[in-house]
Amino acid sequence: MSADLPFFRYHPDPLASGSIRASAEKCACCHRSTGWIYTATFYTAQDVDGSFCPWCIADGSAAERFAGEFIDAYGLDGISKEALEEVAHRTPGFQAWQDPHWLDHCHDAAAFLGEVGYTELAAHPDALDMLRLDLRMSGCHDAAKLEHFLTHLGGAASAMLFRCTVCGTHLAYVDAS
Ligand SMILES: [Zn+2]
Ligand SMILES: [Zn+2]
Repeated sequence: MSADLPFFRYHPDPLASGSIRASAEKCACCHRSTGWIYTATFYTAQDVDGSFCPWCIADGSAAERFAGEFIDAYGLDGISKEALEEVAHRTPGFQAWQDPHWLDHCHDAAAFLGEVGYTELAAHPDALDMLRLDLRMSGCHDAAKLEHFLTHLGGAASAMLFRCTVCGTHLAYVDAS
């Protein structure tokens, strides 16, 4: 059913992630009713009456017209200007408890796959290892507690899952209410 949507290199399935949903709502940029509407973050100082269709995101017209960005690009400094520009201005963002941030790997922005719990993460040991490292760095040194936290992801806390567009490694960070 997503066959006619524009392709987003850094957010390949925005229907699965919930960032774009079927809707009769008109786009705030092109004023067309395309059948699809964007549901996640957009940072701008201007008033936007409504949200955008996927096409006005993909061609950059929404970001340009309202001088806004779909993500907070803070921390994304290891990637090219072109990639940063594509993620910030031409890629759907996502909803999270905390301010969403984008992960990068191999000097490119990673592709956002969605919010997941332990069940999905279990298939990606590389992402679990990254979470373990992050949690240890932030002071969680009790291995049993750490594993308990990880296996309960999907409840009060969940993980944002990404995949490197270059080497395919899965990456994740924890999002909690
Ligand atoms: Zn539009
Ligand atoms: Zn990589």
